[in-house]
Amino acid sequence: MHADSGHHGGLPAIKDVSPTTLLATHSADRKLIEDPEYQHRYNFLAHDHELGLGREGMVYSPRSCKIDLELAGEDIIELGGDWDLPVWHVPGHSDGHLAIYDGKNHAAFTSDAVQTLGYPTISGKMAFAPTYFAVDGYLATIRFFENHPIEYLFTGHWPAECKEGTKDFLAKSREFVERVDSVLMKFMKDHFDGVTLKEVIYGIGPKLGDWSLDMNVFLQFALYGHMERLEQRGIFAPQSPRP
Ligand SMILES: [Zn+2]
Repeated sequence: MHADSGHHGGLPAIKDVSPTTLLATHSADRKLIEDPEYQHRYNFLAHDHELGLGREGMVYSPRSCKIDLELAGEDIIELGGDWDLPVWHVPGHSDGHLAIYDGKNHAAFTSDAVQTLGYPTISGKMAFAPTYFAVDGYLATIRFFENHPIEYLFTGHWPAECKEGTKDFLAKSREFVERVDSVLMKFMKDHFDGVTLKEVIYGIGPKLGDWSLDMNVFLQFALYGHMERLEQRGIFAPQSPRP
């Protein structure tokens, strides 16, 4: 599992009823999962940018839960016989995000590693934007999946895909990143005198998807990642937060 409350908030309840179940994650996500306050996952922008996510609407478990086992890329889960499942380290959405591949059936279980154009509602409309954090890691993960003969894609929030649907899902995941790059660059050129991260989020959100306006708050993670990337490339210089 990875460091999102919807994926690990129920772990204490699982351990209550099944104490021998082994909980596994990558070392890079372990601390975030074992922190029941989620401060470092969702609220690292609170101090400087007045952004973050409260507990409202989030899966919340007030009890911490220890992970039993760390997995890393290239580990193998042996099911028996000749049926082995390689573990893939696929960062971007979280630093320690893992996927599992069933080569016998060409099926990848990718959870939230790739996210097409955003998260859907139950009715199939767009709920909110993709929530990757590290842009280059996310793009490398998309490429990694494309370089493997995956036919069936089983994700964390999206309907299962097969064959052309899998290719399309991966292509759209990249398309969203590229769309953010181009919309963000234009917005920054139009606001040369300075702009806050919050203004960027609400300024370009409607150009990135037709989710409701209050859901633009979920863009903070991807946009912070894009801004950091522009900064690393020397295109953009951050200033201290306003007093
Ligand atoms: Zn997630």
